[in-house]
Amino acid sequence: MADQLLQVNGLKVSVEDKEILHGLDMMVNRGETHVLMGPNGAGKSTLGYALMGNPKYTVTAGSIRYEGRDITEETVDKRAREGIFLSFQNPLEVPGISLGSFIRSALEQRRGEKLRLWDFRREMKKAMEVLQMEETYGDRDLNMGFSGGEKKKAEILQLLMLRPTLAILDETDSGLDVDAVRTVSRGVEAYQKNEKGALLIITHSTKILESLKVDYTHVMVDGRIVATGDRSLVEKINARGFEAYYREAVREGSVRG
Ligand code: ADP
Ligand code: MG
Repeated sequence: MADQLLQVNGLKVSVEDKEILHGLDMMVNRGETHVLMGPNGAGKSTLGYALMGNPKYTVTAGSIRYEGRDITEETVDKRAREGIFLSFQNPLEVPGISLGSFIRSALEQRRGEKLRLWDFRREMKKAMEVLQMEETYGDRDLNMGFSGGEKKKAEILQLLMLRPTLAILDETDSGLDVDAVRTVSRGVEAYQKNEKGALLIITHSTKILESLKVDYTHVMVDGRIVATGDRSLVEKINARGFEAYYREAVREGSVRG
């Protein structure tokens, strides 16, 4: 039981009075990587926001337990300090705050102490090397004028620097060229070496998963997890396309229709 990190039980989530998640269960242990797939509009991002505690997403039933505590009512800030991290599908642009100072202040909040600039710079330089990012990016305003690929790299840089305990990556690979996907994947791989952390990767593509360890794959349709399997489920879906896989699985009775 010591390994249990996240337990989602019967979670129902509404946005603007419309129920999106209809009673979702999920259990994630430390050190595990879970992949979440599913067609557009299934509710994948909604789950990410709900786990992060975004107030727009109202939990109407069920619970979220994290590190043994019920965090269903906790604020985003508190969850972030406790090590939950959500990378956005569309990262925000923030004028006036550099990427470096943003990461430094997040890290200080997380660790509860001031960081020496020199130590911070050295750590950040190492992480930027993994991601093949030019050091000057650290001095640029957060995501301002960053290309899609640079924004995603900036998010993975945060992942490497903050070393969250539960990292949720929402389509961090979408819209990236092959080289950028590889770089992002290398960053995620570096994160996986941290055995205390767990990953929930929301993705459509399998490219990012190629060099990664994957423990479980979940398929979400209409706000419900309809199938859970191992890595091979990703390949099945990828080979047949989502619709065909799903129709066939319903026919076979291996998932609910
Ligand atoms: P996915 O990430 O699987 O593509 P989403 O979680 O983004 O799906 O969306 C699931 C459903 O919830 C969609 O019908 C979407 O329109 C709706 N939804 C999500 N977020 C919002 C929001 N902030 N306001 C209104 N509707 C939303
Ligand atoms: Mg989404």
